[in-house]
Parts: sequence; structure tokens; C-alpha cells
Amino acid sequence: MSERIPLHNLSFKERVDRDLNDPALRHNFREAMDFLMDKRKGRFTDDHQLQLLRDRGSSIRKRALSKLPDLLEQLESKLRENGIRVHWAETPEEANSIVLDIARHHGAKTMIKGKSMVSEETELNEFLEHNGVEAIEADMGEFILQLAEDKPSHIVMPAIHKTKEDIARLFEQNLDDCEYTEDVDTLIQSARKELRRRFHAADIGLTGVNFMVAETGSLVLVENEGNGRMATTVPKVHIAMTGIEKVIERLDDLPPLLTLLTNSATGQPVTTYVNMISSPRKQDEDGPEEVHLVLLDNGRTIPYADEEMRQTLQCIRCAACMNHCPVYTRLGGHAYGTTYPGPIGSILSPHLLGLEETKDLPSASSLCGACGEVCPVRIPIPDLLRRLRHEGVRKLKKDEAPVIRGHGAKYTHTEKAAWLSWSKLYSSPAMYRTFALSATLLRGLTPSKMKGWTDYRTSPKPAKKSLHSLVKQYRKQQDQYSEKQAGDKG
Ligand code: SF4
Repeated sequence: MSERIPLHNLSFKERVDRDLNDPALRHNFREAMDFLMDKRKGRFTDDHQLQLLRDRGSSIRKRALSKLPDLLEQLESKLRENGIRVHWAETPEEANSIVLDIARHHGAKTMIKGKSMVSEETELNEFLEHNGVEAIEADMGEFILQLAEDKPSHIVMPAIHKTKEDIARLFEQNLDDCEYTEDVDTLIQSARKELRRRFHAADIGLTGVNFMVAETGSLVLVENEGNGRMATTVPKVHIAMTGIEKVIERLDDLPPLLTLLTNSATGQPVTTYVNMISSPRKQDEDGPEEVHLVLLDNGRTIPYADEEMRQTLQCIRCAACMNHCPVYTRLGGHAYGTTYPGPIGSILSPHLLGLEETKDLPSASSLCGACGEVCPVRIPIPDLLRRLRHEGVRKLKKDEAPVIRGHGAKYTHTEKAAWLSWSKLYSSPAMYRTFALSATLLRGLTPSKMKGWTDYRTSPKPAKKSLHSLVKQYRKQQDQYSEKQAGDKG
């Protein structure tokens, strides 16, 4: 695979060009995505049952979001009752500082991490490192990326863009006593040995959270490798970090969501580990002495205020929309340049980062609808993409409350004037006919190269005759034929 250039040194278009022209990357993604799509399809063989389950998942998430402020209060009081300390963070910086304060309070020098996309969102590792705390990723994919100084390209399988040859070279260079091998089991055992040692030496464990149950004050974490269980039980302190939207109301809301999540993500009926954390250790010998939960907003309350945009927060991070997206499957995740790539990233990142930073993402979709069709909680992703495109080119009216940061980031006077002219032209039959006639008469002047458009397409030359004139000609021929028939009969 070619040498990667840091994401932020390139524009969105440059990243797209780079990744479209990387045949190895495209081949890897195509294979991996086909595999994941087949796995999901193999699990959902009864469409009627699937649709019922999706209805259930969607209504559970909608109900939870409709009561979000109350459920968060209930969750906080239950967690505190259970002995878990709750911290609220409005921004990534606040979330990182809370984690650092806990680490400093315990004199911690090392932190072992289970998978946490929210900690990617806040760039926690870099922040901790800068402040003298070493953060070690224990999820296999994240561990590989940390060694490679790379970023996740998928939210469930972060290192999916790496080949086993890449990993073999990486382990040979970075792990003690690890020779080059392409045997996957041996590679996994080498990493495992290294991580075991790190788990026992770590002062703090940090993980993400899949769901938080308000009724019982429980943090639910699903995983296959056991690193989540180790990170939540071996070190003396466990910090869980997640977004405020992950709360659900009742414990019996959990099974349908877990079924939808694991089957949609990896085609598994259930993951190897389902961890439910409801308190620090009690009389047991194992388990952390302290458990903390850091709840991050980071712009999530902005879409919450808008009924349509709020649906974005229903997401359970299964990645099915990414695995089925014709754009993501050809590009991979790095081209998007954000923590959450693919269709979910294109509807979520504008709220987290603002539309100025992410204005191209809602347009990085063919709007084919595949993402919306597979989403287990029925998020209408194509509708939300269209809405974001609209908000990107719309100026707020006077005194209108913003529904997103960076409103109108794609607004240009030229585009506005072009659409106004288009609307005038298409609403006046006389003007439209004149335009169509001029376009056909002057078709020879159509430029063969048009910036951007003709990179991958041929130039859109008007037809020799417009549809109107063809229909007119056809009708004339029909009339002549009818008259001739009538004359012959007479
Ligand atoms: S938007 Fe839907 S399909 Fe995509 S990650 Fe979220 S829950 Fe899964």
C-alpha cells in the first residue's frame, strides 16, 4: 500500500483522489465489505421478522430520545446510588481534562483502553501523551493502528484497511520476539502476549459504552476480544466514556437492540462478551475500586432540538450503512477525514464539527438509499443528507434559531443566481423553448472538458433535436398518416 499522507494536510477532494487511485486499498475494502454484507444477509433471512425487529429498535431509540433529559437524570442518580461517579462534558477538551484529572488524582502513568470511538472523537490519546500519561490501545484493530500511527477507517473494524502483510511487518518492527509471519493466529498471539503484560501494568482502564440503562444504572459494553472485560476489571480504576445519546430507558429494551447491533455489524447472533457494569467492586476480590462515567455532548444537543435531525442520535453504531454504501465501499474511511466515516459520519459529523469543516460530506453520497434500507433503527439517512445539503446552502432568516453550526457554509452567490435562473427558465414555457432551441442549435460549442465533471464522465452535449421537437415531428407524421388513410378510404 502506498505511503499515507496525514489526513489534515489534504482537502476532501484530494483525499478522495488519493484513495480512488489506490488499487490495493480499493481491493481490500471491496473484499471486506462484501464479506460483512454477506454475513449480515446470512443472519436476516426472514424479511418480515427483520422489519418487525427494525420497528422495535426504532421505537425504543425514539422513545429514549423523546425523554432524553429525564432519562439522563435518572441514569445519573441510579449510577451514583450504585457507586459510579458521573461527569458531564460539553466539549472534547472538557472530557479530556476530566480523564486527565482522574489519572492525576491516582498518580497514573499508563492507561489501557478498550475500543472507544468517543475517545477518538476527543483525540484523547494525543492529549494524554502530551500530559505525561501513556494510553495503550488494547482492541486489536486499534492496537495495530497505534503502532502504525494511523487512524481508524471503520467504526467497528478500525484497521480494516490494513493487510496481513502490513500487520506482519508492523509487529516484526515493533513487538519483542516477533518474527515476520503471515499466519493470522500467530500474529494475534504475539499481540495478545504484549497486551497481557500491558494490562497488568496499567493504572487505569478506559472503555467506550454501547448502551446505558437508566432504569438500573448499568453500562453495557459488547465486544469479541475480551479487551473490554480486561480494561474494566484488571486496573484499579475504570473510566467509561460515551455520548449522551446512548441512554435507553429499560433493561428489557436491551435485548432487541443487542440483536440488531451484533447481527447488523458482524453477522453474529451475539458477541463473545456482553459486559454489564453496574458498580465498582463490592466484597469481590476482582474489579475496579472506582468506576467513572464521562458523558460527552460535543454538539449532540444541537440536532436534538430539531425533530428531523434528532433521528441522527438514534444510531447504535453498527456500521451497516457504511458496509452497504457504494461510496464508502469504494473509498474507505480515511477520505472522509472525520472520526465517523460513511453515511453515519456524513449525517453526524456536521453536528459535531460544524458545517464549515464538513460541508462536502452530505454531498459524498449518491442518495441510492442503501444506507436507509439497512439501518437497524430506521434512521432516514438519505432524507437527513438532503436536509444537510439544504442547510449548507441556506442563509438563516433574521432571528431564526440555527439548527446546525456553520449554516450556509456552501452558500455562494453564483450558485444561488444559477438556481434562480433555472427556476425562472423552467417555469416559463416560452423561455424554456427558446433555451432548448438555443442549446440544440449551439450544441457544437459545448466544451469537451468541464472542470471536475469530465474527470470521470463524458461532456453532457445537448441532443441534435429537443424532445419537444421530436414529439412535434412525430405528431405531424401521425396526422399526415391519418389524413392519408382517410383519403385512401374515401
Ligand atoms: S446510522 Fe444506522 S446503519 Fe449506520 S451505524 Fe448508525 S445504526 Fe448502524
